[in-house]
Amino acid sequence: MSRPLNILILGGGIAGLALAAALRQRSEHRVVVLERGSLPGVPAALIASGLQRGHSDVPDAQDYGIAIAPNGTRMLHILGVANPVAALGGKPLQEISTRSAENEESENSSYPLDPSAPAFFCRRSAMVRTLAQAAASPMLPGAAVQIHINVPVAELDVQTARYGEHCGDLIVLADGLSKAGRAAVVDAHGLPAELRDANTAQLAYMGLVPARALAPFSHLHDDGVPRGCLANWTWDPPHAAEEEADEAAEMARRGRAQQRLILYPLGDDALQLFAYQPATAALLERFPRGGAHGSRAGFIRDVDAKEATEVFAAFAPEVQELLRSCPTLDLAQIRDAPCLDNWAAGRAVLVGDAAHATLPHTGQGSAQALEDAEALSYLLAPLRAEPSSASTEAAAVASLDEALAAFVAVRTPRAHMVQRTARMLNGCLAPGEAQYMRDWDEVSYMMSMLTYAGVEQQLAAQQ
Ligand SMILES: Cc1cc2nc3c(=O)[nH]c(=O)nc-3n(C[C@H](O)[C@H](O)[C@H](O)COP(=O)(O)OP(=O)(O)OC[C@H]3O[C@@H](n4cnc5c(N)ncnc54)[C@H](O)[C@@H]3O)c2cc1C
Repeated sequence: MSRPLNILILGGGIAGLALAAALRQRSEHRVVVLERGSLPGVPAALIASGLQRGHSDVPDAQDYGIAIAPNGTRMLHILGVANPVAALGGKPLQEISTRSAENEESENSSYPLDPSAPAFFCRRSAMVRTLAQAAASPMLPGAAVQIHINVPVAELDVQTARYGEHCGDLIVLADGLSKAGRAAVVDAHGLPAELRDANTAQLAYMGLVPARALAPFSHLHDDGVPRGCLANWTWDPPHAAEEEADEAAEMARRGRAQQRLILYPLGDDALQLFAYQPATAALLERFPRGGAHGSRAGFIRDVDAKEATEVFAAFAPEVQELLRSCPTLDLAQIRDAPCLDNWAAGRAVLVGDAAHATLPHTGQGSAQALEDAEALSYLLAPLRAEPSSASTEAAAVASLDEALAAFVAVRTPRAHMVQRTARMLNGCLAPGEAQYMRDWDEVSYMMSMLTYAGVEQQLAAQQ
């Protein structure tokens, strides 16, 4: 008799947990999430077992805020989160204020607010908690997903969907920038080793600003309550006029050289501050080695605010004061993975940052992870395995291959578009990607993000 698939998900971040929740809702597959770190804020009752203490790329102590674009909100609806802004305690985005380093406003634009799918800001931990709840709560319909935390790092075999002692019909590699999943897929296809790695394009000092620090910025609060405004301040370092070869070259130069501070409210008493600056060899050297494959850690915690204000000395004193107001500051590597054309190998498939880590400037990292989860769950839902006979087992594997191929075909063009757009805005398109910039159309890009309504509709539109 046929049976639902056993699906392992490696990584309990947004991509892994969203997929777990979506599979629970849409299928009878038996799903196990293996997370090497902890899941701060997720109730212990939702965790199936805790093994020895692991480590995570994401700092536990300091949560960070993420912007969810309208397509991400729509995916949350489809995954069963009825009112995402309320469920995640978020704050809708209503306007964008653009200022110079001297704190002079150059533009204030309202953001198109679609009440059915607003863009909003929330804490990453709120997203993880909500998705873990949807996946593992015993109170909801469908078979609860098992979430294991602190799972020791083990050997991964993509051909047999095996991770250490765990084995499934399929292993979904949602391990973010840890590199294990991506390296396994790249190696399985015999692709160049440089496709395994994400590049560090920029660094960001990041911290949580208390709402009371908004006092000097009357445009950002109403009587002390943060407004739904994304504020950004930009400094362009002086440069020689002859560097302005043409418009495209000038845009690339500015994107590479700029320092930017971004601030947005998280729906509670805090705002997320990111202070971006180009990666320098000296700053990169400070990230300790010791991660998987000898890679450097993605974060340095508890950086001195004095250091950050010295780096951002070109900004007005009240803007620098935002950096000082954060109880703690971390320094993060902002990474961008090369576009990978095939995310599937054997019985494994990449999702989320492991497949398409993107620079955060388009606010699409989480939304793309949610789109992956929605699309993959839709394509996997009808599959069955028939383990009793070798021939029917082969048939189940064949349909799995088709589902993974369909997933890769439908998802890679969108994910690559997002990656390249973010690269373009940061002046770091690869040499072979120059045509992308010439062809890019802001209106059609925005519309494709604002109106995306799930993979079923996308597949229908392609026929
Ligand atoms: C500074 C910064 C700002 C950002 N801002 C935004 C924003 O405004 N909007 C937005 O949409 N996105 C933003 N992003 C991106 C967004 O956070 C990511 O795109 C999103 O979290 C991707 O989720 P993921 O699940 O793929 O990866 P992750 O969140 O990295 O999760 C991967 C998980 O896998 C686990 N793991 C790793 N290796 C293993 C292993 N071997 N075994 C088991 N588990 C493993 C990790 O511990 C982690 O929990 C930002 C990212 C950064 C760094």
